[in-house]
Amino acid sequence: MNILVINCGSSSLKFQLIDSESEKCIAKGLCERIGIEGSMITYAPEGGEKEKTTTPMPDHTEAIRLVLAALTNDKTGVVKSLDEIGAVGHRIVHGGEKFTSSAIITDEVIEAIKECNDLAPLHNPANLIGIDACKTLMPTTPMVAVFDTAFHQTMPEEAYLYGIPYEYYEKYKVRRYGFHGTSHSYVSKKVAEVLGKNYEDLKIIVCHLGNGASISAVKNGKCVDTSMGLTPLEGLIMGTRSGDIDPAIIEFLANKESMTAQEVVSVLNKKSGVLGLSNGLSSDFRDLEAGLENNDENAIRAMKGFCYRVAKYIGSYVAAMNGVDAICFTAGVGENGPIVRNFVCDRLGFLGIELDQELNNKRGMDLDITTPESKTRVLVIPTNEELAIARETAALVK
Ligand code: ADP
Repeated sequence: MNILVINCGSSSLKFQLIDSESEKCIAKGLCERIGIEGSMITYAPEGGEKEKTTTPMPDHTEAIRLVLAALTNDKTGVVKSLDEIGAVGHRIVHGGEKFTSSAIITDEVIEAIKECNDLAPLHNPANLIGIDACKTLMPTTPMVAVFDTAFHQTMPEEAYLYGIPYEYYEKYKVRRYGFHGTSHSYVSKKVAEVLGKNYEDLKIIVCHLGNGASISAVKNGKCVDTSMGLTPLEGLIMGTRSGDIDPAIIEFLANKESMTAQEVVSVLNKKSGVLGLSNGLSSDFRDLEAGLENNDENAIRAMKGFCYRVAKYIGSYVAAMNGVDAICFTAGVGENGPIVRNFVCDRLGFLGIELDQELNNKRGMDLDITTPESKTRVLVIPTNEELAIARETAALVK
């Protein structure tokens, strides 16, 4: 069955058409600047040329109409008609406590997603617009919602509650939820596969290090802790997000810089992380790596701060699980950054980790990068959130 995977943001929309039997991507692309002057669709059939077309997209319905037209067009299309798309899988950022797994989209499910809008005001409404647009254009095609938060719903209370008055949890559901769940789930299962071990018997730490970064502890096949919280701002130092800070900094900076709390939080989201730590040098690790080669003190400071935080979280998750069998790196930085992996693992001598540097320098495949003597396995597994969404979708609509 062909599954259309949609990841809909407020002004952009990423898509992939995946054959659920062969698990191959048949075509993919991106709509950008939806609702803004200069909208553009990029479309690429598998093995074919990338086409970029600038065309008006006043709303998401028009964007999805263009996606469907690209997939079915006579020249570069990959299916003859929309009948050949068996289902649509939507990435939904926040499922609150309501969704512990993926769900077939019904009117009730849409209402329940809307009820989580408060928790992800930038993301969930955009995700819902994507659902609505597909419903209009493909009214009989089944759709599935796959939540970023669902995998983390197995966290125990001691891991998800904040040390604040309990009534805020009762009244507003203020707690830790975690994100990137589809990736953490996909990658942790892959670790077991690569090691040839039973998923339910392992203690795994997954480091999803991309522009947004999070880390999770997966014990016996269940997530027991993860670094992102009520929102994706908590935890690791990221590309532009601060991760953990003393919450009193918000009031302190608001007073010193005459900003509102909202403005300070915007700085924490958009101008912090390695971008902020590097004094504005870059949020991109390729630039930081280039900076390291030139002994640039801004790049060194940012890289050291980032890697220290990752290692510190790994240490705390070893404690949370009372041990660890495998640590896995994934996403843009985790998959491509041998330097980051070295910096992090250098701090983990107490786990008896020995990296094989030749393997650490390879890219683009599932790999155990440790020597046979290493007491803890360290792996690199390329994540594939779209495939994971397609799998979930196919399993539910069958
Ligand atoms: P997201 O999905 O959160 O936007 P990605 O997982 O795509 O992020 O990761 C993007 C980041 O990966 C880039 O900002 C860059 O820092 C890093 N990255 C990508 N390629 C490389 C590379 N070859 N070497 C080091 N870092 C890389």
